[in-house]
Amino acid sequence: MKEKKFDPASNVQFLEQFGEFGGVNPSITDSSTFTFMKAETMLDTFHGETQGCFLYSRHWNPTNKYLSDALAAMEGTEGAWVTGSGMGAITTTLLQLCNAGDHIISSVTTYGGTYAFLKNYLPKFNIDVTFVNASDLESVEEAIRPNTKLIYTESMTNPLLRISNIPELSKITKRHDIKLIIDNTFTPMIISPFQLGADIVVYSMTKFINGKNDAVAGAICASNEFIAAISDVNDGTAMLLGPVLDPMRSSSILKNLNTLHIRMQQHGRNAMYLAKKFKEIGLKFNYPGMPEHPDFNLFNSMRNEDFGCGGMIAIDMETAERAADLMESMQVKGVGYHAVSLGYFKTLFSNSGKSTSSEVPADVQLEMGMSPGLVRFSVGLDHNIENTFDLIHSSLKELNLL
Ligand code: PLP
Repeated sequence: MKEKKFDPASNVQFLEQFGEFGGVNPSITDSSTFTFMKAETMLDTFHGETQGCFLYSRHWNPTNKYLSDALAAMEGTEGAWVTGSGMGAITTTLLQLCNAGDHIISSVTTYGGTYAFLKNYLPKFNIDVTFVNASDLESVEEAIRPNTKLIYTESMTNPLLRISNIPELSKITKRHDIKLIIDNTFTPMIISPFQLGADIVVYSMTKFINGKNDAVAGAICASNEFIAAISDVNDGTAMLLGPVLDPMRSSSILKNLNTLHIRMQQHGRNAMYLAKKFKEIGLKFNYPGMPEHPDFNLFNSMRNEDFGCGGMIAIDMETAERAADLMESMQVKGVGYHAVSLGYFKTLFSNSGKSTSSEVPADVQLEMGMSPGLVRFSVGLDHNIENTFDLIHSSLKELNLL
């Protein structure tokens, strides 16, 4: 019998979540606090001993629970918790797992905000971080110390679009009894990190999951034990630092989550079209769905094939000046917007070294192989991608950038 493959889209689709009066969308509970008929039930809820009771929305809110349940279904984790930003998810997870004196191993190529948190903020708590090339598994394992608590990386790293070998990293973390945390922001549904051996999956839902650039939000997908720990009233990092998501936003993100699979397919089709065209015209580009990418085989071995190869593609314009000229011209022609962020229905582009990775010092950028002229595209849902390519091509030709 054929083994049933993991299907994140169907896992979301088959959830039945109703609103009051049989609404097809769950109701929005815009209450920060909840009443109790019995004093004892309130106390039990404080101690985490009642199921299905809500106490206070920084702790749990019914609308957030619906979105969390859908995200847990998508990842195949027991539970999830939604946060007011991707950074809220990342920092909550790391601060929950580490105490003063602990050590973290992180990929050197991560989102700039994550890098800045690890490098500049965690020393305040005497938490030490070693940055490694996550593709070099030997050096990752060699970096482990007796006080190492976790390995952190992104499934598709920002902005170089390298693929982390989650199954092999998971073998390392299991061997040393430490945790593997994966930021899957670039590849929701395409990669299912928990299925591949990660312990905790974090997201910036601001990006593909929501897909509308109208909200900032994040998520932590993990075991029930971890979710209970972060929301514990006495020492839970989420409960005590309070990065909770607003239930109004949860409700709109949940609706958008239900179209994520179709959007990922279209982002991927469009990015693949551009990658092939960039190859034809001899442009230096990075796209993990093309055979010339160093992680092409690894990516294929890890991805849920129904959802394409992702909407992120980077081209190398060599210098920041050439990148700036191209981006300004593309914006005028209507290719998309010169803006940070990703996962939007319109194409967005930015020079990583001068924007989302600007927190990473120039020498480290060079060391990790990031060109100062790297232009990262988040390819949109364009209906006529042929026309989009023609516009990019005409900018390149007019500016003598080919
Ligand atoms: N992780 C990745 C890969 C990102 O690209 C970003 C933001 O750009 C974040 C995390 C942070 O997310 P947020 O801006 O929602 O806090």
